[in-house]
Amino acid sequence: MQIKKNDKVMVLSGKNKGKTGEVLQVIKSTNRAIVSKVNMVKKTVKPTQNQEAGLIEVEAPINLTNLQVVCVKCNKPTRVKKDILSDGKKVRVCKKCGEIII
Ligand SMILES: [Zn+2]
Repeated sequence: MQIKKNDKVMVLSGKNKGKTGEVLQVIKSTNRAIVSKVNMVKKTVKPTQNQEAGLIEVEAPINLTNLQVVCVKCNKPTRVKKDILSDGKKVRVCKKCGEIII
């Protein structure tokens, strides 16, 4: 299971099940990822010179095991496999349709 930054992913379980978003950050140390506009939590911010105090919404990390890459061709969450192109470049491809997921 490989999820990388900028991947389009779908949440497979939990309260955000079925939601899709783009991976903003992968946190390898905790096996979690931050997905844009998914798993939003309210956070209090202290006032700074540039910002007033208040509540902001930020993305909370989601466990990688709850995420699956969405294939652009199938438009569904899919398992990916590793493949090596003729020029030696390593890529991930959709197990269903063979589309290359960059
Ligand atoms: Zn596919």
